[in-house]
Amino acid sequence: MNCEPPPVNEHALDDPSLERPGEACGVFGIMGPDIDAARMAYFGLFALQHRGQESAGIAVSNGTDITVYKDLGLVAQVFDESILAGLAGNLAVGHTRYSTTGSNKWENSQPVFRHIGHNGIALAHNGNLTNTSELAEELGPLAATTDSELMTEAIAREMGDAERTLEEALTTVLPQFEGAFTLTVMDQATLIGIRDPRGFRPLCLGTLDDNWVLASETAALDILGATFVREIAPGEMILITDQGIHSRFPFNDTGHQLCIFEFVYFARPDSILLGNTVHSTRQEMGRLLARQAPVEADITVPVPESGIPAAQGFAEVSGIPYTDGLVKNRYVGRTFIQPAQAMRERGVRMKLNAMAGIVGGQRVVLVDDSIVRGSTTRQLVAMMREAGAAEIHLRISSPPYRWPCYYGMDTGDRSTLLAADHTIDEIAEILGVDSIAYLELDALLRATGTPTDAFCTACLSGNYPTSIPDVDGKFLLETSP
Ligand code: AMP
Repeated sequence: MNCEPPPVNEHALDDPSLERPGEACGVFGIMGPDIDAARMAYFGLFALQHRGQESAGIAVSNGTDITVYKDLGLVAQVFDESILAGLAGNLAVGHTRYSTTGSNKWENSQPVFRHIGHNGIALAHNGNLTNTSELAEELGPLAATTDSELMTEAIAREMGDAERTLEEALTTVLPQFEGAFTLTVMDQATLIGIRDPRGFRPLCLGTLDDNWVLASETAALDILGATFVREIAPGEMILITDQGIHSRFPFNDTGHQLCIFEFVYFARPDSILLGNTVHSTRQEMGRLLARQAPVEADITVPVPESGIPAAQGFAEVSGIPYTDGLVKNRYVGRTFIQPAQAMRERGVRMKLNAMAGIVGGQRVVLVDDSIVRGSTTRQLVAMMREAGAAEIHLRISSPPYRWPCYYGMDTGDRSTLLAADHTIDEIAEILGVDSIAYLELDALLRATGTPTDAFCTACLSGNYPTSIPDVDGKFLLETSP
């Protein structure tokens, strides 16, 4: 996956649908003796739509040939009955991709496909490599516009030149990749799931009758009626053929670092990560936040939908009644037509509207999961004021987002991050709130009920678990034509 940095321009500040940072993509894989793999992949991707809305794709094998269908748009826009009917086979991988407008082009959609003689491979990637420039240099000039294409090229060369099987090629090539890469990869007859040794991005395994399923999140298993077997371990490569399933660990152990933002924002609330339901973990964040930063107020209002579970937890502990104060238009997604200039400043209102009858005259605790750039939040606060809120106390269920992510969520450079160069008091002033508090990192980690060293917290702490590329390296391929 490559999520291009958002454009930093005037529009970006005014129009929330332009300025949102990139988020992690969704990957999927399925194989079995007697399954309409593409159709199942469609449903799986549908459940992973929240991880990427710019493009969707499925590669399917009928045992002899691989067919790939991908396009820009939501899963339901890209595929229809007749397209799925043309994708026959019992082995498939799929992908949902997020990017900002700049790199929202067909060539960057996935799965990536490469011919190898009469065979081929298809690859779906969630994450970002941190050694893209080194890899690009080693491979020499080639038509790659994403790090995912580079990986596919490296694997294909190893298979073609060295006449290796997909499994053999991966075992050789994978240790050369650095950074975040959760992959589902296939050739005509093999499905492989991989998590990089740190396990930045999730991947789980399930069964559906006699079929095996791989998905970024357990919610995708639920939608298929599949049974959750286990998470793929960091550094694990799981191979599925008609002979069965086996796993190997081709990497040196580096310690595990799941992205903490999966718990904060990315993952669906109904998914299970590290044995915890994400929704319950978010509620716990809200409880801890209420203990850490109490305030006198009349109502607790979530920013839908990302702030809902934390607001529930906050209300429970504080005793300040929980109520809806903002209504979200469910049908506004990223693909929605940009409003005319005159309406740009009303951008947030296209998605969220404050109810004056509820927030008017009230002292409001407004709860959200995170602030990245601050422009959405600023507009939301203004809207709440317009609706008559007497006081606004912002409570954020994660620490200040200060450091760019190099592992799958592209937030641009530090200058775009509100908390990077501002004190908490300045942030309160910029956003126009009466008070603001962010959940402390210790408490956030505690809420997960998992040992604290199990996470990557780079965006919140600046502690990067790998060496990081310079900005040019990070965007090397993303900005090329
Ligand atoms: P802003 O005030 O513009 O930083 O936007 C804050 C909102 O963005 C919060 O409601 C977050 O839930 C949401 N958010 C956090 N991370 C992301 C992301 N990667 N993509 C889109 N929205 C996000």
